[in-house]
Amino acid sequence: MIVTHGPNPISFYAVLLVCGLGLGFVAGLPIVDGTLSELNVPGGIAMFVGSTTGMVGTYLALLMVILASRLPALERMLGQHGIIHWHRLLAPWTIALITVHAVFLSLAYAEVAKRGVLKEVGVIINKFPSMVSATVALGIMVGIGLISLPRIRSRIPRESWWLVHLLMYLALFISFAHEIVLGPSFVGHPLAKIGWAIAWLLTAALVVTYRIGFPIYRSLVHRLKVAEIRSEGPGVVSVILEGRHLDRLAISGGQFFEWRFMTPQMWWQAHPFTVSALPKPPYIRLTVKGVGNFSRAVAQIKVGTQVSVEGPYGAFTAFAMRRGRVLLIAGGVGVTAARSLLEDLPLKSRPIVVLRASRDEDLILADEVDELVRIRKGVVHRLVGSREAIPLNSIAKLVPDMAKRDVFISGPEDFVRDASKMARRAGVDAKALHQEAYSI
Ligand SMILES: Cc1cc2nc3c(=O)[nH]c(=O)nc-3n(C[C@H](O)[C@H](O)[C@H](O)COP(=O)(O)OP(=O)(O)OC[C@H]3O[C@@H](n4cnc5c(N)ncnc54)[C@H](O)[C@@H]3O)c2cc1C
Repeated sequence: MIVTHGPNPISFYAVLLVCGLGLGFVAGLPIVDGTLSELNVPGGIAMFVGSTTGMVGTYLALLMVILASRLPALERMLGQHGIIHWHRLLAPWTIALITVHAVFLSLAYAEVAKRGVLKEVGVIINKFPSMVSATVALGIMVGIGLISLPRIRSRIPRESWWLVHLLMYLALFISFAHEIVLGPSFVGHPLAKIGWAIAWLLTAALVVTYRIGFPIYRSLVHRLKVAEIRSEGPGVVSVILEGRHLDRLAISGGQFFEWRFMTPQMWWQAHPFTVSALPKPPYIRLTVKGVGNFSRAVAQIKVGTQVSVEGPYGAFTAFAMRRGRVLLIAGGVGVTAARSLLEDLPLKSRPIVVLRASRDEDLILADEVDELVRIRKGVVHRLVGSREAIPLNSIAKLVPDMAKRDVFISGPEDFVRDASKMARRAGVDAKALHQEAYSI
């Protein structure tokens, strides 16, 4: 029997409740700080709207930074899929609210000063403390919002988008002073000021600890370096790394690391790749399909190159199971998660595995999957062909008891989305559906 202490829905709702209470608290600050009682004075309504949207928008930004901090408890609870989902959900609201905040406060001050709005904006930037940096921050945020619109984002190289997107940290940092110095909810309210500063300091500490400190620590402990690059199929290579103390890595099958290859061209970005086999000290393996500049360059990395890792992350593991039986559905290179997760399944678990690819040669690691499934007395279905020839619905016919199984789906984002819809239509409960979309 499989241990089933996966992400706990009670802790998820508890976190949601705490976030909701925090939201209520910051949204309530402009009500109790006196801004609400001044609705009737000139500019009062715009001031209230501007203050409230500013507080709520910055609070959502705080939540987004916490989401991006790689806090292990959050990673376990939401998984990469959930973190990306919440990040994408909050991001447009954050930027829109902060922009509305700037517009309405400009209107409010213009009404009070009886000046044109554009003239007032000039006065605010030049005369009010910390407003130059706040204006630069707003420009950065709006810029990030624009380049993140799907139509624009799809035309920009991912690395460039990602680098610009990192400027959000700078924008939040340089806008902090104007919040504390000018925010009606903080001026004359020392407790609110201290609470806000502590919340941001703790959040910054999370980012520094988990995104910088831990990877450095892991790199020093494990000293990973490339031992071999092996071709697995068209455009797909396995990277075998050698390191120290790999038995100390608390990793489950299906989890991934953010890998940073220390070559002159690649050191500055870390990308997520799932371990395609559990570590066999002193070795650990990942398998990479070349789809863009970074992943294609992996095949050219020289033996001996040092590698730094962040992780392991992800909730796509046997611990997430709610039922005794399992169906793994892997699209293309999504087989990496299925392959390593299989190793964590008990010997009598009788897993059903569906490997989906357009061509036979794209069925990578299939022999290893066959062997792992065989010794677990399960079945592998290889679905090879175009989407038209082999629709995802055919899986429902192959696995009639799908609704009684935990269903793990991994692969490219659209594959995971479509296969998840198919599974839901086949009656799989949301709690028994586990997804790892290989999208970044
Ligand atoms: C949790 C997680 C685990 C992952 N595990 C693996 C893994 O084990 N092996 C692996 O090869 N990849 C894996 N990926 C995907 C991998 O991280 C990306 O393919 C890689 O980072 C792309 O970077 P790039 O700069 O090479 O390409 P980009 O410039 O980012 O992408 C180039 C183009 O390829 C598209 N693209 C991106 N990813 C895929 C994909 N998987 N399939 C088809 N098209 C794609 C993009 O939409 C874009 O159009 C994983 C992703 C996540 C989020």
